[in-house]
Amino acid sequence: MKKILVSACLLGCECRYDGKSKPCEKILALAEKKDTVLIPVCPEQMGGLPTPRTPSERQRAKKGTLRSISKPGAVLMKDGSDASSYYKKGAEMALEIAKLCKADYAILKSGSPSCGKGLIYDGSFSGKKAEGNGVTTELLLKEGFKVLSEEEL
Ligand code: SF4
Repeated sequence: MKKILVSACLLGCECRYDGKSKPCEKILALAEKKDTVLIPVCPEQMGGLPTPRTPSERQRAKKGTLRSISKPGAVLMKDGSDASSYYKKGAEMALEIAKLCKADYAILKSGSPSCGKGLIYDGSFSGKKAEGNGVTTELLLKEGFKVLSEEEL
């Protein structure tokens, strides 16, 4: 039996910042398999953020905005407030669930400041992406879990 931690929005849960979901056909097909158990998590909700919520992006240590230089790795809301503590708490809770359930690996939503892997929005709120991982992905990888994005499936 395979146990896979999955971003809840990919299963159709309306937990995204805009109150919508992003159902993914490949993951919904996995949910039909008898030898697979999906464990949905939404780190942003578990970290205490409301839905809908102000969009946030991870800041990068690169030339651009002053705030991205002063807080590399932080997660700032579009209004400039620092939401990093919510993202950290959500990541820790997702890790705890992954450990408790003995998840084999995780499939998380691309681009997200929590769940993104490899490429995430670059902190400029301009729709551009740059190399990097979301806070939850970063923690799961650090703890030895394999993480795939839905695009890598
Ligand atoms: Fe989806 Fe992850 Fe964002 Fe929750 S935190 S809405 S699961 S991408």
